[in-house]
Amino acid sequence: MSAETTTTDRPTYVLARAEVRGVERVSPNFVRVTFGGEELFEFGTPGDVFDARIKLIFPPASGVLPTLDRETGDWWGSFLAVPEEERGSMRTYSVRDLRVTDTGTELDVDFVLHLAPGLTGPASRWADAAAVGQELFLVGPRRGVAASDHGGAEYEPGGAASVVLAGDETAAPAIARVLEDAPRDLRGVAFIEVPSAEDELAIDAPAGVEVRWLPRSEEQMHGALLIPAVLAHLGDADAGDDLDVTDVDTEDLLWETPDYSGLGEDIAVTDAPADRYFWIAGESGVVTTLRRHLVKDLGIDRGQVAFMGYWRRGVAMRG
Ligand SMILES: Cc1cc2nc3c(=O)[nH]c(=O)nc-3n(C[C@H](O)[C@H](O)[C@H](O)COP(=O)(O)OP(=O)(O)OC[C@H]3O[C@@H](n4cnc5c(N)ncnc54)[C@H](O)[C@@H]3O)c2cc1C
Repeated sequence: MSAETTTTDRPTYVLARAEVRGVERVSPNFVRVTFGGEELFEFGTPGDVFDARIKLIFPPASGVLPTLDRETGDWWGSFLAVPEEERGSMRTYSVRDLRVTDTGTELDVDFVLHLAPGLTGPASRWADAAAVGQELFLVGPRRGVAASDHGGAEYEPGGAASVVLAGDETAAPAIARVLEDAPRDLRGVAFIEVPSAEDELAIDAPAGVEVRWLPRSEEQMHGALLIPAVLAHLGDADAGDDLDVTDVDTEDLLWETPDYSGLGEDIAVTDAPADRYFWIAGESGVVTTLRRHLVKDLGIDRGQVAFMGYWRRGVAMRG
């Protein structure tokens, strides 16, 4: 998500104060927070959300949100200019639902609650205690403004006849939104690994897309079910043999899409029509392990896949 401006000089992104309008514990590990407020009136284009990411700025310990420059579009520079102890924390989330009516804009965000001591963070803690009336800042795509980065959305199946979507609980809200915004004749399969069977939330998916929930047991690591399920689907006979996601030694999030390489790889433009499009997101070590199999072992053209690390085990995000 860049801080660029459009030719009309309206910043591509809205930095808005958002107020909590509702909090619902939708399952043991998800809390759905509904945001509203006057400043959201320019945010987001309904029906065109897919996996668009937003940034949320949670208040620091004082509870007081920082003063940020809202006019220039340089929301990142403005955030960094605030002394660290007054700045709060910025994290990335997906829009689970967006409703624009005559009376205003509302959006839902599904927060994963990861609250175990030593494994939690400011966003998860905030969501666990969220209450109607609280405020935070939201950075997201401006309604009706065509940004060169598609408003932070990566889902781009092009003319692919079918899709394979795969992710853990942090990617579940984006997968759900993608499936609900997708054309009704979309075909394919979505694999969603969640902490428990009770976290299987309703998705209004196209009839031709099979949604396969993969509930972990408490002993299982992230990826324990997702990796073998995706590989088995692709006909990898050794599916499940290489589950060591701990040998991924970088703290950086993997971000490899058909038109961007966080690893700095050359992206070869192929003319071959992609019959199948892959969208894979979640814990970065898990996504990296899947990438190795798909690109190196199965020879899938990386131009057909978006591989996105949404979080990293043992690493606190910085924005
Ligand atoms: C494009 C994008 C979209 C995303 N959409 C969503 C979304 O809709 N809903 C959602 O819940 N998350 C989503 N995430 C993931 C979310 O940004 C991270 O989980 C983030 O680390 C949470 O911040 P935190 O302050 O709670 O934890 P941090 O301070 O970042 O991390 C603290 C500790 O918690 C651990 N941790 C972080 N997340 C998890 C987790 N889910 N399970 C277990 N341990 C964890 C870290 O490894 C670290 O040890 C998205 C990320 C990206 C990049």
